[in-house]
Amino acid sequence: MTDFADLLRVAPGAAVDLAAIDPRSTPGFDADKAAAHDELKDLRGELEAFQERFWAERERSLLIVLQAMDAGGKDGTIRKVFTALNPQGTRVTGFGVPTEEELAHDFLWRIHANTPGKGRIGIFNRSHYEDVLVVRVAGLAPKSVWSRRYDQINDWEATLAAAGTTIVKFFLHISRDEQRERFQKRLDDPEKHWKFSLGDLEVRTQWDDYQAAYTDVLARCSTADAPWYVIPADRKWYRDLAVARIMAEVARRLDPQYPPAEDDLSGITIPA
Ligand code: ADP
Repeated sequence: MTDFADLLRVAPGAAVDLAAIDPRSTPGFDADKAAAHDELKDLRGELEAFQERFWAERERSLLIVLQAMDAGGKDGTIRKVFTALNPQGTRVTGFGVPTEEELAHDFLWRIHANTPGKGRIGIFNRSHYEDVLVVRVAGLAPKSVWSRRYDQINDWEATLAAAGTTIVKFFLHISRDEQRERFQKRLDDPEKHWKFSLGDLEVRTQWDDYQAAYTDVLARCSTADAPWYVIPADRKWYRDLAVARIMAEVARRLDPQYPPAEDDLSGITIPA
């Protein structure tokens, strides 16, 4: 049987045509939104139980990378899917504009410092991929620098994988129209103004450059160790379901086990 994840995984070395992937599509799901919500609830329960075993086993690590255009739904995905996980053992790290100290180091320095240790799950809200996305499109480093980073990223991710980290990378793929609608909603609602900056509009004018930059990321950095998944993300309910299904498949494959008790506990009762 084909796994659901196979539908959305970018095969290593495969050409990627983002324009051919409809952000409103719902591959592998033909029921309605209510059914998606029901299934998501079950999957969240499964992920919660998985994490408890993963934490107890404390042998391996799990790193989830979330990337998207602005208003692509990274925060929503964390809220709807990953809050199923116990905060003890899970950490979300957001990567913004690098500080002076971070810029004084290699681009992976701040990233590596936030990778999950054994038994832990790390969720990256933006990541080292910004160093071949915004850095490339905004011209923050010369091409001679950023163009070498794809291989550097693959090598670094392979190092993490060899040390027992499972890496799962999601690109939440929204349409330009959907971004316009989401931006407009933010502008129309004073409580959402904090989520909006005029800089977002400038980035929007570079939409095609970003899509091209993402295309290279997906084509060059989807590896067997650290695959990329392209999630059609205009429909939030499908986005959440797709991410949760893929995570559940990863969880089943990892199948962590409770460690045996340190002592023989058979026949012991707690004295009154
Ligand atoms: P978000 O938009 O994800 O909610 P922020 O408002 O903190 O979070 O925005 C993060 C900003 O930091 C984005 O504009 C992003 O392009 C920028 N950024 C992230 N990593 C880098 C980097 N390595 N170099 C330059 N800018 C970066």
